[in-house]
Amino acid sequence: MTCTTELIPLYSSSQGNSTLIKINGINILIDCGKSCKMISEALISCGVYPDDVSALFLTHGHSDHIQGVTVFSKKYHTPIFATKGTMKKISQTYSEVSIISDNEIIPFKDNGFEVWAFPTPHDIDGSVIYKVRNLMSGKDVCVMTDLGQFTPAMKGFAKGACAILLESNYDRKMLQDGPYPYPLKMRIASGHGHISNDICHEAAESLIREGTRYIMLGHLSPTNNTEEIAEESFVRYMDGRDLIRGRDYELKIASKTGPTEGFAL
Ligand SMILES: [Zn+2]
Ligand SMILES: [Zn+2]
Repeated sequence: MTCTTELIPLYSSSQGNSTLIKINGINILIDCGKSCKMISEALISCGVYPDDVSALFLTHGHSDHIQGVTVFSKKYHTPIFATKGTMKKISQTYSEVSIISDNEIIPFKDNGFEVWAFPTPHDIDGSVIYKVRNLMSGKDVCVMTDLGQFTPAMKGFAKGACAILLESNYDRKMLQDGPYPYPLKMRIASGHGHISNDICHEAAESLIREGTRYIMLGHLSPTNNTEEIAEESFVRYMDGRDLIRGRDYELKIASKTGPTEGFAL
């Protein structure tokens, strides 16, 4: 068995999310929030046939995370892991479904890894984030988006993870001045919606100081953020705290339109 972990975002934004994790020769997907066709094309461009996805983990039932699940699962018979709240949002599946709790460790002992679920205060029943632990290397990878807030409990969950896909959803000023209706602006910033670039910076600082090296910013809002603003503000914030890119951490921005070159651990 080869001992490797790769974190590869296929799509990441408020318009659709799916993340490929290659671990010890196995492929798993976290979320399936684009059409089956788009997810399949993205996988193939990363050298993975969709039939070779061994498991599909869902974070929550918003359409930008589950849009392609029904068709993908019918076509490729991929086993699905999701909370009860999330499964309620899926009309029909043709695969084996495992209902997990929002605080469960799912073992894949034969393949040398575990998947950990953890609840978030996001505004939908059964919303979780995931940590994938490579039992051979001891390295953890976390996928943390749609957080609502970054709680001390989440910090504990992600502490020491080698690589993290971390939400950096909106620039406060762009959200404030932007075109969204007032109730939607309030929902996003409510503590049950998404986390801003500012909150992401504070979260990432604490995680980098606890040993995280690879940060992938993700789930950017196409309306209330840009890749440039997210990246520049992140580096500026860290520079001001003597955390230097390339020395103390590596940074990439996950693309909304297709696969991003990932981190191999
Ligand atoms: Zn989302
Ligand atoms: Zn959501």
